[in-house]
Amino acid sequence: MQLKTILNRVQKFKSFVYKSMRWVGTDAAPELEVEVAERANGQPICSACGRRSPGYDRLPKRRFEFVPLWGIKVFLVYAPRRVACSRCGIRVEQMPWALGKRPLTKAYGWFLASWARRLSWKETASVFRTSWESVFRSVEMAVEWGRAHQDLGGVQAIGIDEIAWKKGHRYLTLVYQIDTHCRRLLWIGKERKARTLLGFFRWFGTERSQGLRYICSDMWKPYLKVVAKKAGQAVHVLDRFHIMAHFSKALDEVRAGEVKELKAKGYEPVLTKSRWLLLKRPENLSDRQDSKLAELLQYNLRSVRAYLLKEEFQFFWHYRSPYWAGQFLDKWCTKTMRSKIDPMKKVARMLRGHRELLLNWFRAKGQLSSGVVEGFNAKAKLTSRKSYGFRTFRGAEIALYHALGALPEPEVTHRFC
Ligand SMILES: [Zn+2]
Repeated sequence: MQLKTILNRVQKFKSFVYKSMRWVGTDAAPELEVEVAERANGQPICSACGRRSPGYDRLPKRRFEFVPLWGIKVFLVYAPRRVACSRCGIRVEQMPWALGKRPLTKAYGWFLASWARRLSWKETASVFRTSWESVFRSVEMAVEWGRAHQDLGGVQAIGIDEIAWKKGHRYLTLVYQIDTHCRRLLWIGKERKARTLLGFFRWFGTERSQGLRYICSDMWKPYLKVVAKKAGQAVHVLDRFHIMAHFSKALDEVRAGEVKELKAKGYEPVLTKSRWLLLKRPENLSDRQDSKLAELLQYNLRSVRAYLLKEEFQFFWHYRSPYWAGQFLDKWCTKTMRSKIDPMKKVARMLRGHRELLLNWFRAKGQLSSGVVEGFNAKAKLTSRKSYGFRTFRGAEIALYHALGALPEPEVTHRFC
């Protein structure tokens, strides 16, 4: 059997054929070149408008990198014709294997993009002896194709989240679909302003926005305003993950203040190295941490009292009826307002101010998967770390859509990986 037979099996073109093959490269790094030619009597197709047009002239030979075979780089070699298109003028012909002006074939681009989902981009480049740039461009191509072909019908529940980006309080806003039957990253925007979220709704379209039934987000004011304006019919749910993050922040603040104070007064530094004891859920502590926490709880410290208030609040999420959950919330807030712990009082005020939206959590129970936003948040952070923190917005966008977008891929006769 010849290599030509294999090529025709994995990738056959209607208007082009494989011709001769030859070895090039060096002994240490051998390469295979496969000559490609147009079928006899075939008219070239204009790459701009897709119409058959009379040929004009021929450009020099170009190499298009194909999927490697047994560790040997493979190139298709073809001298593209130019057409004299009656509409577009003189244009290069359409080549079904080519990715625009890039030196990669479509097949190789999809191959690299697919590996770049399993490995980091850098690893992918090194395994296949190609450049980081080639991997990035391949992923970009896959994302652009997928975004242009994805089906946005039937989205009923979305979650809005943000992740820190670069240093110095810069954020990306991420919008996820969190329906029980389909979860994916839908959209990414720079920063986390009202304008950012308006950008999402503009992209998503009025009709689809009005079909939304649930929206899950943080208490961030610009979000609340925009959601009310653009999808007022949806039940707006403040999600557990974001609320509890506010508690952690408050607890950190209380603890840091108290450590300073104790040190200044010359007391035993019981609070040092206690940060995780107080932030972690008790069921996630190790035995050693458990006994350390028990010891710490004997002190009547502000940090300890704040910790107990936070743990008490966890009961809130276990209610079934919004009515009783509301009763619990009111009592907890009253108690906390009397605690004289400012950061906790701030949390209580914030919760009181958003009482109705908080209780929507119980109205929406069972309609959306609650842990989804938290899960996506962790995956988004991991993706960022794998790409060594996103240096450019374009890089962040491409990496996140690729990892979390559940984007479709074209149907092909043969999958190379
Ligand atoms: Zn044309």
